Amino acid sequence: MNAESETKSVPENQSEKKCASCGKWTRWSRQQDDVCEHCGAELSTHLKEKEARAERMKSYPKGLFPVKEHDAVLIKMGKYSINTIHVIFTAIVSFIVWFITFVVT
Ligand SMILES: [Zn+2]
Repeated sequence: MNAESETKSVPENQSEKKCASCGKWTRWSRQQDDVCEHCGAELSTHLKEKEARAERMKSYPKGLFPVKEHDAVLIKMGKYSINTIHVIFTAIVSFIVWFITFVVT
């Protein structure tokens, strides 16, 4: 395993961060607009990652059977029912596993 962490502490209450772009250590004051002093790349990729994750979640299929716009009404109802039963079933199984793990033993 890599023992080198992403950040390391330096005196004067400042941090250093390893640049994701060039791989060199650069000063980092934990601000959104901090840039690498070697290559000028942005250091705070946190917000961008958050946005990308939110974008991925939107395109992620919802439920066991994703309901599509062009599905027939009966198919839509069937899919909604199966998705609902799936969620309830998952909740019950999760509860049973939790119950056996923490209450029975
Ligand atoms: Zn850099």
